[in-house]
Amino acid sequence: MAKEQGKNTFRFFTQELNNNLMEKTLLEMDLRQAISKDELELYYQPQYDMKTGLMTGVEALVRWNHSTKGLISPGTFIPIAEESGLILPIGLWVLETACAQAKTWQCENFQSLRMSVNVSIRQFKQPSFVDEVLDVLHKTGLDPAYLNIEITESMTTDVIYSQKILQRLHTEGIRVSIDDFGTGYSSLSYLSKFPITHLKIDQVFLQDLNSSNTAIIKTIIELAKNLNIDVIAEGVETAEQASFLSTLRCDEVQGYLYSRPLTKDKVEDLLKSFVY
Ligand code: C2E
Ligand code: MG
Ligand code: MG
Ligand code: MG
Repeated sequence: MAKEQGKNTFRFFTQELNNNLMEKTLLEMDLRQAISKDELELYYQPQYDMKTGLMTGVEALVRWNHSTKGLISPGTFIPIAEESGLILPIGLWVLETACAQAKTWQCENFQSLRMSVNVSIRQFKQPSFVDEVLDVLHKTGLDPAYLNIEITESMTTDVIYSQKILQRLHTEGIRVSIDDFGTGYSSLSYLSKFPITHLKIDQVFLQDLNSSNTAIIKTIIELAKNLNIDVIAEGVETAEQASFLSTLRCDEVQGYLYSRPLTKDKVEDLLKSFVY
């Protein structure tokens, strides 16, 4: 009986695995055509300066409008794109679209709007990465000072390589943020070696402001101040979280409390409603 059950359980899991694999393979096939079918779309989430309350920039967040499955979040398809290598054309599309959009907005009404773009490890590890970024900036006419590249701690394990890439970006005047800071396992010593402009505190610490998380947030902000790096908190959802961050003099904030990620049209409405 137990053996029988064990067998069934085993078969059940195998089938589930097969289904998952099938699902992933099908999604990957669709993803291959997503760019040419114009199914990818960028949303933009505003970022604000805590002191002045002014909108300093936006973070580009990619969405996939699947023809039958509807809106698919990056959490689902970015890992598939990473694994299959599709992240290279997708990442380039994101970079081009975001930079072109930033340039348009700058020309229209908001000269100092900064554009943050997430890059994945596979993009970052490409030897031609910096050249591609420079090429996009050249093509779109966006001033490098207004592009901010978001990387994660886990991408920087190869210190020599990362140092070389980050130094080149820095020399070109491009900003670099460490996204999801505090959740990686890398040593902190790299921070003084890399020319980083922003630390982005991971939202998990804010979600539960217990004593250890408050201590971690305080430490990250202090660390950033000591290293002369700006610090931004993401995932700010409540007034309580905002006032906590303001007491600690966190530089910038981003989160549902201020705005959800918006379509390009909604950002335009928002920009028009401000007089700068
Ligand atoms: P991330 O870069 O850390 O982006 C922050 C995520 O938190 C976004 O999820 C955003 O919509 C969400 N968020 C913003 N404010 C709040 C809040 O107040 N509360 C909560 N609970 N969540 C909030 P999203 O758009 O689903 O993106 C998830 C992840 O997918 C991103 O994490 C990033 O790692 C990746 N991603 C998104 N777009 C791209 C892209 O163009 N290229 C690459 N390589 N990765 C991307
Ligand atoms: Mg990010
Ligand atoms: Mg993050
Ligand atoms: Mg993340």
